[in-house]
Amino acid sequence: MIKILNFIDGQFHEPKDNLWLDNVLPANGEIYSQLPNSNKSDIDFAYQAANKAFPQWSQTDTNQRAKILSKIADLIEQNIEQFAAAESKDNGKPIKLARTVDIPRAASNFRFFAQAITQFSSESHESVGQNAINYTLRKPLGVVACISPWNLPLYLFTWKIAPALAAGNCVIAKPSEVTPMTAYMLGEICQEAGLPGGVLNIVHGEGQTTGQALIEHPEIKAISFTGGTSTGRHIAKLAGSHLKKVSLELGGKNPNIIFADCDYEKMLDTTMRSSFANQGQICLCGSRILVEQSIYEKFKTDFIARTSKLVVSNPENQEADLGALVSQAHMQKVLSYIKLAKQGQGKLLYGGNRVTIENHEKGYYLEPTVIEIDSLNCELNQEEIFGPVVTLMPFSTEEEALQIANSTEYGLSASVWTNDLKRTMKFTQELEAGIIWVNTWMLRDLRTPFGGLKASGMGREGGLEALRFFTETKNVCIQY
Ligand code: NDP
Repeated sequence: MIKILNFIDGQFHEPKDNLWLDNVLPANGEIYSQLPNSNKSDIDFAYQAANKAFPQWSQTDTNQRAKILSKIADLIEQNIEQFAAAESKDNGKPIKLARTVDIPRAASNFRFFAQAITQFSSESHESVGQNAINYTLRKPLGVVACISPWNLPLYLFTWKIAPALAAGNCVIAKPSEVTPMTAYMLGEICQEAGLPGGVLNIVHGEGQTTGQALIEHPEIKAISFTGGTSTGRHIAKLAGSHLKKVSLELGGKNPNIIFADCDYEKMLDTTMRSSFANQGQICLCGSRILVEQSIYEKFKTDFIARTSKLVVSNPENQEADLGALVSQAHMQKVLSYIKLAKQGQGKLLYGGNRVTIENHEKGYYLEPTVIEIDSLNCELNQEEIFGPVVTLMPFSTEEEALQIANSTEYGLSASVWTNDLKRTMKFTQELEAGIIWVNTWMLRDLRTPFGGLKASGMGREGGLEALRFFTETKNVCIQY
């Protein structure tokens, strides 16, 4: 059995108190590795290493930092098959998705921030008439914490680590306990790339134990967190009382708003992906599909026909469109929402059952599921399900579409499908979402600000926003 280890001070270590957790294979429910359940003493150890490394790393020429981060990107790319296989196995996602999205994007995160730091500059303000010049310094913070979820494990882990390191910080990072494998593999890549010991420390374990010890550490200067809204609220409270900087990327219940004048075939193709990619376990998935009344019946028929053709299979199957959900607990949560539909909260149009895969009978497979709803106040419209489940609802006017779209506490992303410019401008102004796509979905440019409104988060990541988050601003005023 593989034993995953903590990566601290450039070396692999067992947890100090010898506490271990089982790591389960979503494809068949078997335990296939063990990981540390690290506690305060491991976090203290990681902090000592990070703090010791900080003076030198923060003073390292940015070109040199960029070179090491680029090397990490190269090495991830050179090992793409191993990383993709490990990610697919650990998370249950189809191998083709890990190979084409997760791992390439993890490499891009390092490459992007390696380049971005060489272009990062700060402002100067001349105080005319006062013989003074102000300039702004942006200094690394020190030791920072990065905590990421299980749905896009390496992709979201590196999305935080890369800008933090590029800006000159030392990092203690905790991946989700449910998907630790590629984060473990990243340690070896960092050794090979020549990242100095202590600059990046990867500590494994449960959120309640390891994560909690990390966010409570008094010397951690900032917390960058991606995960559920309730955990985010807990972290915000704690960070607030210690006056730590905090960035929160949280849940979503994103509307996909479809008008009759859209490019129908492109919309249908994309809506299939935005509904069921990664078994619907992407914070940006368009889980609420709102369709203009005049094409509602046609869309419903076509969407269900396409959904019925999706292949649910074990993640190694190259033909799989959907693999396994990440864990038994998560599958039960998703099933509990499907049960609400079966009990009458909505009309189950397609799916709703577990799928049994030959030789993988204990895996966590679910049919892609389509539910029609007619109320805004029900759980199915309000709560994040985070699985292969979408709701359908018709609308008649732009006002009604906006009202439905903005009717939840979340505000992460939205997609609008229309070719009407006036309508596009209205929706981009009035939708309560941090990321709005028009006639596309999940088209990402790493320079753009990323994050949500309302209960979907606080702060923005991406591009210069991330580099600003991971630096402290100092203004200097010189009179001459
Ligand atoms: P959780 O909030 O349960 O966990 C996220 C991370 O936080 C995990 O590493 C978890 O550890 C850790 N954690 C849990 N409790 C604590 C704590 N008390 N202190 C510190 N760390 C803690 O989310 P999930 O992993 O279930 O991820 C799914 C959620 O993430 C969904 O709501 C989804 O929408 C959101 N998400 C948001 C994105 C965005 O960019 N807005 C992107 C992707 C996902 P462990 O797993 O070990 O318990």
